[in-house]
Amino acid sequence: MSPQRSNLADTLHGLDGRSYGNLKQIRGRYRFGSVTLFVDRVQADPFASPSKVRVRIEHADAKLPPELITDRQDRIAAADYLLRAGNTALGRFDRKAIILGRPGQEVLERTNVRIDDAGVEARLLVNLPARGRRILGHRAADLLTQDLPDLARAMFLCEKWNGGVDGFRQHVQLHRDQLELRDHLGEAGLVGFIGNGAILPRSAGDSDEPMDAAHAVPFASPPELEHTVELSSGRSLTGMGIPCGVTVIVGGGYHGKSTILRALERGVHPHIAGDGREWVIADPGATAIRAEDGRAVTGDDISPFIANLPSGTDTRSFSTTNASGSTSQAANLVEAIEVGARTLLIDEDTSATNFMIRDSRMRALIPAEREPITPFVDRVRPLLDRRGVSTVLVAGGSSAFFEVADHVIALDAYIPRDVTEQAHELVGIDPAALSGAVTDDDAVTDDDSVGTPAPRVPTAKALRPASKTKSARAKGTDRIQFGRAFIDLLAVSQIVDAQQTAGVAEALEYLAEIFDGRTAITEALAEIDEMLDEQGIDGLTGHRDHPGHITRPRAQEIAAALNRYRELRLVE
Ligand code: ADP
Ligand code: MG
Repeated sequence: MSPQRSNLADTLHGLDGRSYGNLKQIRGRYRFGSVTLFVDRVQADPFASPSKVRVRIEHADAKLPPELITDRQDRIAAADYLLRAGNTALGRFDRKAIILGRPGQEVLERTNVRIDDAGVEARLLVNLPARGRRILGHRAADLLTQDLPDLARAMFLCEKWNGGVDGFRQHVQLHRDQLELRDHLGEAGLVGFIGNGAILPRSAGDSDEPMDAAHAVPFASPPELEHTVELSSGRSLTGMGIPCGVTVIVGGGYHGKSTILRALERGVHPHIAGDGREWVIADPGATAIRAEDGRAVTGDDISPFIANLPSGTDTRSFSTTNASGSTSQAANLVEAIEVGARTLLIDEDTSATNFMIRDSRMRALIPAEREPITPFVDRVRPLLDRRGVSTVLVAGGSSAFFEVADHVIALDAYIPRDVTEQAHELVGIDPAALSGAVTDDDAVTDDDSVGTPAPRVPTAKALRPASKTKSARAKGTDRIQFGRAFIDLLAVSQIVDAQQTAGVAEALEYLAEIFDGRTAITEALAEIDEMLDEQGIDGLTGHRDHPGHITRPRAQEIAAALNRYRELRLVE
């Protein structure tokens, strides 16, 4: 680290009007009272990616309540609060010059603010001011020596916050309660929970903010599924518990079915107060499964769903550059289970009908051995019984799933009712006939179809594109450029924002280092998760001082990107 210099302002004033390259010399560390400023990387010219700058205050000066920033999970919530405080304060500064990163409705582990044992720091991206290719030295001096220290104080000193220390405490406590509820769900045999009073609809199709209270109908659980949890904080929550098993959501069009499913998709992450989904909590591995024709598939075992193709192709290791609706949905499903999803979220709106169901007349007309597809309706019970995979499914147009459902929920003008009994009566089944979990000695011979597939092992070079430049780069939320190829993530609905996509891109580079021709995809993803739990999100990048802005992705989303990489190659 270069020696500490106090006179950054003088230097910058002196550089006014000089050519931009001269800014390189300001790299270093500077003190402004309790604030330390680090200029880690100076952009080469005004049009290059912004400079990397950090501001830091040590705990002795920041005086954050220590009991709220000791635990790893608390630090995630606390850092999220500080980042939001920074965004509020940013209104006073030049938003084009100072890039802090803007969090959405979820509380996630991000690189933007880091709380370590010694202090707290913000990682900023700063566009150092210029006119043409000349340095605007006076403006740069104000920005770096006044605005940034001011911003640091606004973020990190509790007396500057709108909500004061109480708001901070509540933010961390809400996060604790949400995680406790999540743990409780697992123990109580539930895959999801939707609190009474939750606001599920969003204000618009392109917004993640809640619909305004005047229009939104708050959630209310049917009495049969109502579940109450007392948390250790003293908070008591009542809402709908979605049990492990097969849950089917029915109801007329436009009655709120997809909205529930989408809330559960996002329920894998904690939410901020006021979001409306604070108490919508899903199994953290829950994964949305949809059809996605056109995607590439590399070596997936889709044989539980698709076998005996007329071409003779072996679907136990199925590859294509252009999957159909049904094969893509099958691939999405087996890939999700491969990375450990034990809850599948499936919406009729985005499913391939021939993947989901086949009606009795069609079964009569086309003999089973002439039909390569075994529809999901025939596999949903074996998946549960043999592999412990639950499904929450929206199906408004077909009764086919009544026979295999543990619970049927009907939505009527956004209000759910438990209609399991009527649905079972309609199809004439005795609920006791639905199998429970199959125990090991209960060998089911005719349903080996959904057994554990062979591990997929990428080649050592699978993720090493020919071009030597930094290989993976997020392009917005829905695309990653990887070498010369593009990975299309439009159908991966659980990616939260572009910053998380950037996290996925970093993870792909990390995976490139792990793959050696012997390591399975599942092992490599587990290794990343372990590293992240141990080192935190900074561990994902090579730049520890200033890692830029990335958000921790789930293994599900990393796998989703890997699986959509068209150059992925497996060891035979
Ligand atoms: P479905 O899948 O049953 O056809 P959607 O979930 O797509 O219905 O919802 C239809 C519309 O109703 C959407 O515009 C959605 O925002 C709105 N909506 C959903 N749930 C609620 C609710 N609880 N209160 C008010 N509006 C809602
Ligand atoms: Mg719908």
